[in-house]
Amino acid sequence: MHLSATVQKLAPSATIAAANKAKELKRQGVKVLEFTLGEPDFVTPKHICEAAKQAMDAGHTHYTAAGGMPELKQAIRDAYERDTGLSYEPTQVVVSNGAKHSIHNVLTAMCGPGDEVIIPAPYWVSYSALVELTGATPVIVDTTEESGFCLSAEQFEAAITDRTRLMMLNNPCNPTGAAYTIEGLEALARVAVNRSIPVLSDEIYDKLIYEGSEFKSFATFGDDVAALTIIVNGCSKAYAMTGWRIGWTLAPPDLSKAMEKLQSQETSNPCSVSQFAAIAALNESQDCVAEMLTHFAKRREYVLGRLAEIPNISLATPGGAFYAFFNVSSYFGKPLGSGKTVDNSSDFCTALLEDAHVALVTGDAFGAPGYVRLSFATDLDTLKAGFDGLQKFLNP
Ligand code: PMP
Ligand code: GLU
Repeated sequence: MHLSATVQKLAPSATIAAANKAKELKRQGVKVLEFTLGEPDFVTPKHICEAAKQAMDAGHTHYTAAGGMPELKQAIRDAYERDTGLSYEPTQVVVSNGAKHSIHNVLTAMCGPGDEVIIPAPYWVSYSALVELTGATPVIVDTTEESGFCLSAEQFEAAITDRTRLMMLNNPCNPTGAAYTIEGLEALARVAVNRSIPVLSDEIYDKLIYEGSEFKSFATFGDDVAALTIIVNGCSKAYAMTGWRIGWTLAPPDLSKAMEKLQSQETSNPCSVSQFAAIAALNESQDCVAEMLTHFAKRREYVLGRLAEIPNISLATPGGAFYAFFNVSSYFGKPLGSGKTVDNSSDFCTALLEDAHVALVTGDAFGAPGYVRLSFATDLDTLKAGFDGLQKFLNP
């Protein structure tokens, strides 16, 4: 079959590919210690599942408005007002099939060939791929471990050209866990306003913030900033709802209208039953979020403790999300596990999986050679066994 040049150029999602590789080994009967996907291991809270069951029983199993039900838009607006103090109009909300789809909508509605999109690296795998799908060019700006992997205002300013359409900010960040300081965000917001550059602010990990860090939505730095901000968020991470596929944007009305039009042609509405579940997630008690965060915080402490015991590994302490992103390059060229040597992160992950059955994701996929990503959205016993395996593999 003839395949378009666009899909021929497209690489599969590296996070999903790494998870599939681990699952394939599992199917062969191997006990794999899996830290690939950024997916909470908790079941979706009961009251959210109940709301979905009730919706099905009540016959809410048909098409809804393409950009989401008015009741869900209201719940999203209420949640944002409650959490950030920001008020949005219904015309500014578009609900999609997960935040990944929301990002695709934004990029497709705003970018095309000849345009540039600034992406601070390390970045989530799908950012660059989704920009390239539109024909636009990702302009990757490397940040450093020393800066906590945060983009500075100077770096942002220096990357702007007359072709820049958008900057993609992810706070807290996947894969680094970087949580920007309020001052750091404010400085970026000033550049955005001075140079009239829209910012896609992916805030999907906003509820997963650890002691010592704080979160502030990018749109809260003034009306001029809000007018340039496209917030992306969703239910996947905070409510353990990855499979339900509900994400959304809060954006200026003209862009929202364009995205709703696009979605009406591409997918129609996100799943009706999932929308009812999302309403329950947002409107009802938020205790479940706090409870899951307590577990993530314990796992983070454990992971940081174990990493500190391994010589010659470095990382910027994650302030949010559920990832540890560490540098393993000092182990390149030395015998590992059963004697193999590797000289890059991708081969490191392959050898680690084959020898120790520990599955991580290569930093190469996130624009950060030398690093690997470990998702600690998994239980403490698995983490312990995984670190035992990693430590043995490294022969430190
Ligand atoms: N943004 C970031 C930074 C992510 O890590 C993810 C991972 N799932 C998403 C967006 C997409 O989330 P979903 O499509 O599951 O809502
Ligand atoms: N965002 C998660 C991750 O980075 C889920 C997989 C994906 O959508 O890429 O692992």
